[in-house]
Amino acid sequence: MTRRVVLATRNQHKVAELRRILESADIDVELVGTDEFPDLPDVPETGSTFAANALLKATDVAQRTGLVAIADDSGLSVDALNGMPGILSARWAGEHGNDRANLELVLAQLTDVPDNRRGAAFHCAAAVATPDGDERVVEGVLEGTLIREPRGTNGFGYDPIFTPRGYVLTTAELTPGEKDAISHRGQAFRALVPVLRELLSDTTPDR
Ligand code: IMP
Repeated sequence: MTRRVVLATRNQHKVAELRRILESADIDVELVGTDEFPDLPDVPETGSTFAANALLKATDVAQRTGLVAIADDSGLSVDALNGMPGILSARWAGEHGNDRANLELVLAQLTDVPDNRRGAAFHCAAAVATPDGDERVVEGVLEGTLIREPRGTNGFGYDPIFTPRGYVLTTAELTPGEKDAISHRGQAFRALVPVLRELLSDTTPDR
């Protein structure tokens, strides 16, 4: 029997990416986003880690929908900024989701940082919670370097200034498929597959 699982996001790109991964792993679930539940309130991200925030969202959505719920939280950790912006990545320049301002602020903060100290990493935590209170978290990391001038138009956020280790291109110059294959989110979503298999075999079918 096909099970409904909800991914706690209104971002259809994330839903499509996880759907592709679940399909290729042959897991029999129908993945939906939270746009199917227009009355769900936004969950405040009050945790101090990516994992804590992902778990907050997943447990809240599982309780409210009665479905197995998945949530992710991600961001960029910059070595020369002691790991920041980290969980504040989406609102580093003050206004939530202003990608260009966030990226310009990080570049300005790194103006005097030499090339050999411009290491950074994208992190992603993906959490699964069941309505019965079971919960798990998996993580993915993509290490790389921050360049000085944005390049590329794919992706979002800090992609135009991030080159993965071993690459010359930024993640904004990779195709979506090339990025998914190495990205923090791709790694975390793929790591969800065995966890979901186990949790779905333990839970009662959808109400
Ligand atoms: P969220 O977890 O989708 O809310 O993402 C948090 C923030 O981290 C985004 O607004 C971006 O600034 C940054 N971020 C997360 N993943 C990526 C990525 O794959 N590329 C570029 N920026 C990212």
